[in-house]
Amino acid sequence: MQQLTRNVFVETQIRGCNHGFVTTSDGIVMIDSPHKPSDALKLKAEIAKRGPVRYIINTEPHGDHWTGNAFFEAPVIAHEGVRRRILETNLEEHVARVATFGPEEPKLLEGYRPNAPIITFKNGMTLHVGNHTFEMIHMPGHTAYQAAICIKEEGVVFTSDNIFHKVHTWLQEANPDLWLVALESLRKLDEEIFVPGHGAVCGKDYLPEQAAFIQEWKAYVKDAIDRGMTKNEAIERLTAMTDRYPMDVGQDGMAPGVMKRNVANLYDYFTGNYRPI
Ligand SMILES: [Zn+2]
Repeated sequence: MQQLTRNVFVETQIRGCNHGFVTTSDGIVMIDSPHKPSDALKLKAEIAKRGPVRYIINTEPHGDHWTGNAFFEAPVIAHEGVRRRILETNLEEHVARVATFGPEEPKLLEGYRPNAPIITFKNGMTLHVGNHTFEMIHMPGHTAYQAAICIKEEGVVFTSDNIFHKVHTWLQEANPDLWLVALESLRKLDEEIFVPGHGAVCGKDYLPEQAAFIQEWKAYVKDAIDRGMTKNEAIERLTAMTDRYPMDVGQDGMAPGVMKRNVANLYDYFTGNYRPI
């Protein structure tokens, strides 16, 4: 793990989303959790040296952000849409998939129950723990339920997957226009250090590049629609965007699938068939 500031620690180099924790004067607050159970247990041992976990905050509904919650006893806070999505997850399928991540995982997943959020918000919430303030701000984009978590005393924001820093962007359920608004909201924050959902820690100078890539994705799919392609034709034929950035750690081989899912979603978006999940 990387010590980012006096009290913020982050992990950006293992399979799954970036996650981290903050050491306050009254225990630990985690932000997101590892995807792999064995990584969650390693993190738990690391955190145990520093204090009890008081809360976990989840930034979005995708499984790479919350699967590891289950290995901690702390209550979880998230947007209400994150709670609903976790409760609606087909656990049998979810566990079967995560079990393929490594030889240790199946055993650790026996009797798996997700630790779903029990404290939820719609637009935002502020959490005070010890000498730290955690401001959670709803910023739909990558999904309808994203939140940015600002740690005021540290000058750090966990942005969720509204930022993919120099790794390929997943738009499989995105509203691209709200995402552009979210990037503008991130730009206006006081904090300058961004922990993206995926990729290395970055700053506000990356925001225009992220926005430009979303604009480019929009134009690419819109053009196919304007040229009369059906959805299936677009999914089959549009293959050009995935070579720009590498896939994130642990996503090897996923590029063609991500390409198809991004195209399918944006096709629906431009043809009036987009519905937040
Ligand atoms: Zn995501």
